[in-house]
Amino acid sequence: MAEPKTNELMEKIVSLCKRRGFIFQSSEIYGGINGFWDYGPLGAELKRNVRDHWWRAQTQYREDVVGLDASIIMHPKIWEASGHTTTFSDPMVDCKTCKGRFRADQLDSTPCPVKPSKMVCECDGEKTEPRAFNLMFKTYVGPIETVDNVAFLRPETAQAIFAQFQNVNACARQKVPFGICQIGKAFRNEINPRNYTFRSREFEQMEIEFFIRPDEVVQKIAGNVATYADGMDTSAPQANWGWELWHRHWVEERLKWYESIGLGRDTLELYWQEKKELAHYAKACVDIQYKFPFGTQELEGIAARGDFDLTQHQKHSGKSMEYFDEEAKAKYVPHVIEPSAGVDRLVLALLCNAYTEDTVPDEKGKPETRVVMKFHPRIAPIKVGVFPLLKNKPDLVKKAKEVRDLLRPHMTVFYDEAGAIGRRYRRQDEAGTPFGVTIDFDTLGEKPELLDTVTLRDRDTCKQDRVKISDLVPLLLQKVR
Ligand code: ATP
Repeated sequence: MAEPKTNELMEKIVSLCKRRGFIFQSSEIYGGINGFWDYGPLGAELKRNVRDHWWRAQTQYREDVVGLDASIIMHPKIWEASGHTTTFSDPMVDCKTCKGRFRADQLDSTPCPVKPSKMVCECDGEKTEPRAFNLMFKTYVGPIETVDNVAFLRPETAQAIFAQFQNVNACARQKVPFGICQIGKAFRNEINPRNYTFRSREFEQMEIEFFIRPDEVVQKIAGNVATYADGMDTSAPQANWGWELWHRHWVEERLKWYESIGLGRDTLELYWQEKKELAHYAKACVDIQYKFPFGTQELEGIAARGDFDLTQHQKHSGKSMEYFDEEAKAKYVPHVIEPSAGVDRLVLALLCNAYTEDTVPDEKGKPETRVVMKFHPRIAPIKVGVFPLLKNKPDLVKKAKEVRDLLRPHMTVFYDEAGAIGRRYRRQDEAGTPFGVTIDFDTLGEKPELLDTVTLRDRDTCKQDRVKISDLVPLLLQKVR
């Protein structure tokens, strides 16, 4: 089937998301509010699966990362130390004709090959001089609105990890190298929220700060610092790894993770920032980008940030951020590798990646076009649909409900008895449900050898296999975990 054009494709995805309850505009009944989105029943499940899978990958499958769940509003000095108060601003220009507001660095009439989705002011009117615009949302803590009570909604989750470094270090029984991870809301008063949920004003991040030894300490302990060579296996950490190998390790780990939820390497691109693009303290930064229908854009940044953040907090708080390394018999401020991903951008990538139109035979064998969301079973909102073949046959309905109740403790199940079976399959195809279980007369023993068996339908191939009810739980669990 011909590939739909970019805009047409995004329109179809946006419309499906609303119709099927993945994503709604926030406050829609009041005309919406720009840059804010709500997740409907299917979207909420999808997002939860993404978060849970990420959290499990870090804290359950690794021994060297522990979790944190910090507050959104923190002491305003945090943002002075991190540099957000002074530098977290985009230069911005206003168009005097159309009154549009644009990021000065993104306003361009010629598309850029590196960052292709630059904004274009349609009327091309005269612009004001660029002005700084702080992206942090301001509020007041307590009943009195004075400058002393100003606080900010966090623009990233990372800073709480640095601020709590010593508390976690004191209790977690970890030794450097180790990491702290966090999932949570972040807020940025973006000048131009756009591309659906891609650039929002309220969003969620999944961040890891992985603390490592400075290279001099690695040299002292291991006698050398390994250097990266093309094709090197970076999956098993070694004692002689400095920041470069740890950085490579995390890039590879994160790519593997994306692959495990259905974003294969062919859907992603790595963008290595050039020296001149890097922050002054950063040693390297790579963006993992997804090929969205509106352009190839960042999903996650993985930066080697040196000891900048902890040192800043040490300076501003007056509290030591040093770590005593027993093996090195020395104290130092750990360096950090930071994989920082956005949940909402990832959910959007998963929606774009899943959206498929294909042609399959209908119940009478006639070809029909269907929309199917091909989510990886691990993150699919609903794992299995359960259908009695007919709703007016009490024995079929009773058996189908038994099967639903058997599966429920293990996975999300959707029970549906309304309408023709083909229609019910299509509804689940659009929701991205990878498996369908149908209870028919053979289940009830019409053919005695098929008693207590059901058909198990595969969403992508539409193939149906006959399986025993008693085999369903292990069979499905193996596919959806
Ligand atoms: P961009 O250049 O697109 O503004 P950034 O480089 O400022 O992003 P980071 O500060 O590195 O982003 O944040 C880490 C991650 O948080 C990003 O990779 C992205 O997934 C997510 N993120 C950042 N800003 C937004 C936003 N406005 N809306 C949705 N997700 C965001």
